[in-house]
Amino acid sequence: MLRPSRPKADRAAHPLIAGLEPESAALLRRHLRRGERRRGDLLSSAGHAIQTVFFISDGLVALFGRAPDGGVAATGLVGPGGFVGVSAALSAQHPAVRDAVALTGVQAQAIDAEALDRIATLHPELRRRLMLYANDRIIQATQLCVCTALHTVEQRLARWLLEAHALRGDRPIELTHQQLSDLLGVRRASVTLGLHMLEGEQAVRCQRGRIEIRDLEALGRRSCGCHLAAFGRSERAYPALSNASSTDNPRD
Ligand SMILES: [Zn+2]
Repeated sequence: MLRPSRPKADRAAHPLIAGLEPESAALLRRHLRRGERRRGDLLSSAGHAIQTVFFISDGLVALFGRAPDGGVAATGLVGPGGFVGVSAALSAQHPAVRDAVALTGVQAQAIDAEALDRIATLHPELRRRLMLYANDRIIQATQLCVCTALHTVEQRLARWLLEAHALRGDRPIELTHQQLSDLLGVRRASVTLGLHMLEGEQAVRCQRGRIEIRDLEALGRRSCGCHLAAFGRSERAYPALSNASSTDNPRD
């Protein structure tokens, strides 16, 4: 279910916009519009021009890469403080390299990619911020490659849940075992087994497609720690990270 929108507060809060010079921020805001999306919606499609860039203020978006045979695999996760349409940071002509799918209801501020490109050309500080975030996404994708190659399903499952928690706070995550299986690129039975193990340690509680994180330390012990390597460098783009461990629900 979509949460009530908070457009004014969200515009002020998004770190990529809030830190701009007033003139740049004002110009950007004139082009922003509400960009809510429902769970399952496609925000951008690999190989196609990016029409719209979404500055995320609430919700989770999964990024998927495609193999030549049609297979897909998750390559990243975007949440509050991030944006979808990273290729548009280079220019409006660059097509998306990944599919972006809303895992939850998403609250966002949307802008036409061409408008963003024009404004970024006029205001290099905006371009620099967009590119810094793009670099963060490269770091995260690289770490995900390392994690997938070297770590067990259980470690990766714990890592994914910690990433989601860092972006969303303590709110339960509504995901089926099949969705987690798709996100991790493993069999559903492996996800079920891993979640049972985490439930046995009181780290999570699973109920009717909802996963509630109950003990971050226990989850951290089961994780490989790759979320720290990937997200630790991105705090400027993920303000929820520094708050997630100190408040119950930093976004509410
Ligand atoms: Zn790992």
